[in-house]
Amino acid sequence: MKHCLKIILLALLGSLLIACRHNGISERTEFVIGTVCTVKIPQTTSAENILKDCFSELQRLETILSANSNSSELARVNTTAHKKPVAVSDELFELVALSKKISEQTDGAFDPAIGALVKLWGIGFENERIPEQAEIEAALPFAVSDNIALNMQTKEIFLRSKNTKIDLGAIAKGYAADKIVMLLKKQGVHSAVLDFGGNVFVLGKKFFTDEDWTVGIRNPARKNTELAFSLKVNDTSVVTSGIYERFFFKDGIRYHHVLDPKTGYPVRNNLASVSVVCKSSAYADALATAFFVLGYEKTKAVLPRFEKNMRVIFIFADGSIEELRNM
Ligand code: FAD
Ligand code: MG
Repeated sequence: MKHCLKIILLALLGSLLIACRHNGISERTEFVIGTVCTVKIPQTTSAENILKDCFSELQRLETILSANSNSSELARVNTTAHKKPVAVSDELFELVALSKKISEQTDGAFDPAIGALVKLWGIGFENERIPEQAEIEAALPFAVSDNIALNMQTKEIFLRSKNTKIDLGAIAKGYAADKIVMLLKKQGVHSAVLDFGGNVFVLGKKFFTDEDWTVGIRNPARKNTELAFSLKVNDTSVVTSGIYERFFFKDGIRYHHVLDPKTGYPVRNNLASVSVVCKSSAYADALATAFFVLGYEKTKAVLPRFEKNMRVIFIFADGSIEELRNM
């Protein structure tokens, strides 16, 4: 409930667009794709227009990818694609195809077919609750990405059951960041910071220097923004999934929004957050969620399947920190 209030407050704040210029940097902040998004770029005569274009693009992507709006393209797929295959936009097709691939690569720990379970729990929304065991058991067989069939030629999506619903909440912010980075590069911007609700992308080197950026990872045990860890990086994405953003407590138990597709329940392990550092923000986003589900040991086993030099930072519930690097 408290979380919903926070979202509403942020939404109100976000509707008042924040745009400013300082120290040679232009920045713009808006509430879009379900979170507070900020883009910072070096100030030039065209910077304001470029930032405007970035946010128009984010708004466009939201109308395609949102699982929370009844009028998005994804909502149309979720309500009609079990009757017959539905032709979709390039973006939706590309992201669903990538999501299916990552689901395979993570042995189903990340699964875009998890939508019905997400709706059952409603975590972070007004109707959040602990579903009946029978409801979870009934939803589980449909929450597997084999139920999403793709026709690569016609770019059509078919859902093999009316009970299968797609949710891209664990990957869409990262995908949107990759799209904005492409847009910036096309406009000749080679240094930028994107922060989409904690999904960070640092493009190029730190503004006006040849130095790396410093990106902080929050201490999950603290309510404020105290950092547990900081990284020196350039031209990469840093995305964190944790149990401290969207959750509710019932009888002293924390129910958070990262679900284990095999059980249908919020993942219960010794982790507080997982951060992934890699070039593709879509991958970083999806894998932060997947590695949270898999835990430290299983992540170690699957990590060689992914980008060389990928870094994964685990913060455990007891406050200890471990890092894995894909050599
Ligand atoms: P992540 O760990 O990246 O993702 C967790 C989310 O992914 C969960 O909330 C669930 O949706 C899904 N998920 C959970 N477990 C798994 C799993 N094992 N595999 C795959 N997916 C899983 N929020 C609102 O409150 N209102 C809105 O109107 C709203 N609109 C949005 C529109 C868009 C386009 C997007 C991208 C998000 C929107 N959101 C909205 C937020 C959304 O509901 C998710 O809560 C958010 O994307 C979670 O991101 P995260 O980085 O916190 O967590
Ligand atoms: Mg994610």
